[in-house]
Amino acid sequence: MKVVVIGAGHAGVAFVDAMRRNGFAGELTMIDRLAGLPLERPPLSKAFLLAEDGDEEGFALRAPGWFADSRITLLTGRDIAGLDVDASRMTLDDGSVLSYDRLVLATGATPHRLPGTAGLAGVFVLRDPDDARRLRAAARAARSVLIIGGGYIGLEVAASLTKAGKAVTVIEAAPRLLSRVASPPVSAFFAARHGDEGVDIVTGSSVTAIRHHEDRFVGATLADGRHVDADMLVVGIGVAPNTGLAAQAGLTVANGIVTDSSMRTGRPDIYAIGDGAFDADNGHGVRIESVHNAREQAERAAAAITGNDPPRRQSPWFWSDQYDVKLQSAGVLPVNDPDLRHVQREGRRAGGFSVWSFVGEELVAVEAIGDPAAYVLGKTCLERRRAPHPSQLADTGFDLKAFVADKSVA
Ligand SMILES: Cc1cc2nc3c(=O)[nH]c(=O)nc-3n(C[C@H](O)[C@H](O)[C@H](O)COP(=O)(O)OP(=O)(O)OC[C@H]3O[C@@H](n4cnc5c(N)ncnc54)[C@H](O)[C@@H]3O)c2cc1C
Repeated sequence: MKVVVIGAGHAGVAFVDAMRRNGFAGELTMIDRLAGLPLERPPLSKAFLLAEDGDEEGFALRAPGWFADSRITLLTGRDIAGLDVDASRMTLDDGSVLSYDRLVLATGATPHRLPGTAGLAGVFVLRDPDDARRLRAAARAARSVLIIGGGYIGLEVAASLTKAGKAVTVIEAAPRLLSRVASPPVSAFFAARHGDEGVDIVTGSSVTAIRHHEDRFVGATLADGRHVDADMLVVGIGVAPNTGLAAQAGLTVANGIVTDSSMRTGRPDIYAIGDGAFDADNGHGVRIESVHNAREQAERAAAAITGNDPPRRQSPWFWSDQYDVKLQSAGVLPVNDPDLRHVQREGRRAGGFSVWSFVGEELVAVEAIGDPAAYVLGKTCLERRRAPHPSQLADTGFDLKAFVADKSVA
């Protein structure tokens, strides 16, 4: 059997790895439009931004020899010129033709651009290693940086560039940072922490005009009339799933390539995984963007193709590193649910805490800052669908560890 994977990011590489671990002995080919060894993406807003040029081996998804050792043909710097799903084959941009028995779309996502910035020098988005290399080079020469978007990527870039000595301003249109993904106490924590580090955080205000001198970005005007001057602009306002190939192939697309729980699309020979896929059976009703999700979906697709049992579903988890702070979260926060409520619990370590979010009596997410024990215990509660009562969590004397260890309580 021949399996072709389009996209050699977190999902694609985890998939080919899982195929070999599942005993698949057939042909595995991966294609990515990016040149070079596939790199991890999370460090692009963190350590990679502060690393020396060329110091990249430590950021590789797999060591250079791994693909050949695993008998995986890795074609990088190649795009898909045409996909004929009825004939089960594709043409690459160098004219070569590849046929497949199973096709896996692991095409990831593309960052949204800010209107009015097309063609301007000094404006950056961050998704691929080349974006990070360009951003890093520009930041070295800059004194001030404007970041539009107070989500995780914007805030991680803010922390990295502040560490590098830049004057950073973050503009977020919503009334609080991280409003789409985090609870209000976590948003408040990061707003305070960035403020303490000297970042100018502006929430509840949008950009009404991008100012430029000739073709170079020089600043922005906000809705309240304020002008922010800066040497460069980083735009972190979310991503769109890469669904173009899937749509051309006639597959169902709805904020992601729609799949079932085995990551199969409407065509039995085509699977979709990672940030570009929407597993309609995931129980959360939303497309998830995270390394854990990419890996878990890769495992599910590999199990389905090789006829093995699917892995147990974990509660979705995520992390973010900013300054010396580690946030770990499990579950999915239904941020627009009017019944959502939060309980904050102090951690054992100084300054550590966790936020437990409930809809009615049901625990839906746990976020832990500097409190890895609460994260592990919270994730276990989510996966067992058995959580302490909110009033117990609010009580610092309540023994959470004993509660989780006690298997006798239904
Ligand atoms: C800066 C940054 C920081 C992050 N930090 C975290 C974090 O701290 N924790 C966390 O859990 N997640 C984090 N994420 C998210 C995480 O990296 C993504 O969820 C993960 O990369 C998704 O994997 P993927 O394989 O679906 O997509 P990607 O890793 O984006 O891979 C998709 C690949 O497909 C290729 N491709 C697309 N279309 C084609 C085509 N037509 N032909 C050929 N190739 C194609 C692309 O070039 C790309 O290499 C971060 C992401 C970024 C960008």
